[in-house]
Amino acid sequence: MDVIKIAIEKVLYPNMERIRGNHIRNYTNELKKHEGYSTIDIETLYSQKLTALLLTCAEHVPAYKGKINKILAITNPMEILKSLPPLTKKNFMSKPDCYLNENIDKKTLIPNRTGGSTSEPVRFFIDRKTVEYYEAARWRGLSWYGISPGSRSVMVWGSPIELGNLKSRIHNIEEQYLKNRIVIPAYSLNADDISQYVKLINRYKPEYLYGYSSALFTLSALMEKQGVKPEIPLKAVVSTSETLFDFQRDKIRNIFSCPVVNEYGARDGGILAYECPNGGLHISAENAILEVVDPVTYKPLKMGEAGLLLVTDLNNFSMPRLRYVLGDMAALCSERCSCNRGMPVLKELSGRVDDMFVSKDGHLIHGHAFNHVARNLTAIAKFQILQLSENKAILKYVLNDQAPKSEVDTFLDSVRNILKGSEIEIHQVSDIPPEKSGKYRYAIRQFELKN
Ligand SMILES: [Zn+2]
Repeated sequence: MDVIKIAIEKVLYPNMERIRGNHIRNYTNELKKHEGYSTIDIETLYSQKLTALLLTCAEHVPAYKGKINKILAITNPMEILKSLPPLTKKNFMSKPDCYLNENIDKKTLIPNRTGGSTSEPVRFFIDRKTVEYYEAARWRGLSWYGISPGSRSVMVWGSPIELGNLKSRIHNIEEQYLKNRIVIPAYSLNADDISQYVKLINRYKPEYLYGYSSALFTLSALMEKQGVKPEIPLKAVVSTSETLFDFQRDKIRNIFSCPVVNEYGARDGGILAYECPNGGLHISAENAILEVVDPVTYKPLKMGEAGLLLVTDLNNFSMPRLRYVLGDMAALCSERCSCNRGMPVLKELSGRVDDMFVSKDGHLIHGHAFNHVARNLTAIAKFQILQLSENKAILKYVLNDQAPKSEVDTFLDSVRNILKGSEIEIHQVSDIPPEKSGKYRYAIRQFELKN
């Protein structure tokens, strides 16, 4: 019996609701009700929310005043939304205060910021209701796997200091007793500590693991290399914050023998989609409207075509950002998922637009192209490629023990072929550490796409 789980669900949560006015459980139940809705009912639901948001923007948000026809916002809110220009991070950051609702006291809002590992961090404000709806979307998704807010978990994550500047001891106690979870540091995963982590997982008996896909993959790969597997049944391993590649999913599933679940969330967008047991990546359609546009022209794309994702958060009336360019690439799907849940589905979630490289003749090249080559070669342990301009890139790579020279040559030739005509600076290195957060990126474009 998990006493902490019972205490969280029977004591902590009800008291948080009574004392602090927390609504996460109510919102989760509300979202769960929508699972049986038809596509039309879901559309009606978000259209109503969108109308209210557009009217608020028209009246109280300086950035949108005079730009929204209020009559049309009531009769055809989607048309009005689509008539507005996408909001890039750069444009938002040039005048963030213009996006604050004049009727809301800034002091009541929660300041937040994105990690900004390769670009300028985005600073913004958010209100409690919006955050609680994000949490509710996460708990709805996890409930599909029998996981509830008190369920014990192991997180494979950045260190406590990076997470919140709290003293790590207090942080660990809070994590263990108020959230029923412990953290394995994603940044320092190495072969020497693996048996210790496996023992920890076996002893702690979590219901699920949660972490960055690259960290969960590294953990699984190290376990496979040492021939160890956890001895406890898990309900799921949940991958978040990064693209979950098929090769990563396969390895994680093979080691942990349970469903590997893709959670799609962003610091400045919330929990936007959750994978169901049938493999459909269901959009949190009551929380956000997602659109897909061409990454260069910003023109709308057809259903099924992959492009840049625009997000309109339907709960954030405090600092609304309409058609916000999150930087991720995806495609929308017109078919209903076989699980019959009503929320629409993202067909393809293919990483960040910064992972897209540009060839010398101006074509976009997906960063996965490099990954695809490396995955089929046993020689390449790790690599990272940075594109500095259409003409220049830097490649770093780490070799596995006894790497055959022919494979190394194949890898380098393939990279040169993908970036034909570019100057490529090549460095063989002993390691490529992840970013401070524990995240790891294979391909990074460091200049802006031209219109
Ligand atoms: Zn589904």
